[in-house]
Amino acid sequence: MHEYSLACEIFENVMAIAQENNASGVRSITLKIGRLAHINPDQLLFSFETLAEGSIAKDAQVNVEFVPPSIECECGYSGTLDDISDETADTETSLCEYIARMNCPVCGGITKISGGRELIIQTIEVEQ
Ligand SMILES: [Zn+2]
Repeated sequence: MHEYSLACEIFENVMAIAQENNASGVRSITLKIGRLAHINPDQLLFSFETLAEGSIAKDAQVNVEFVPPSIECECGYSGTLDDISDETADTETSLCEYIARMNCPVCGGITKISGGRELIIQTIEVEQ
C-alpha cells in the first residue's frame, strides 16, 4: 500500500526530529501534499495513526495542506492552478486530465506540470 510506506517515512522523520529535540511528545504535524501526488490523505492519516500507536507521536494532531498543481511552458510562462474549482479537483483523474488538456495561456503551447506532486513535512511541533 502506497500510503502505508509514505506514512512509514513520515513517521521515521518525525521520530528522528523529535529525538533530536529531546521531545517527550509530538503535539502536531503539518504535511503538505500535492494534489497530483496520488495520495489518499485519509489512508495516509490512518496508516500514520497505526504506526504512531504507543509512540510519543500517538497524540499528534496531523494537519494536511494541499498544494495546488503548477504548470510551466517553454515560452517561460509558469502558473499555479489554484483557481480550479473543487468540483474539477474532486478526483485526481479528472484533475490530471484537466491539466493535460490545458494549453499555455500566453503562447497556446503545450504546458508541463512543474509542481503538485510533493509530499513535505512542513512543521512538527514537539513537547519538551
Ligand atoms: Zn507558453
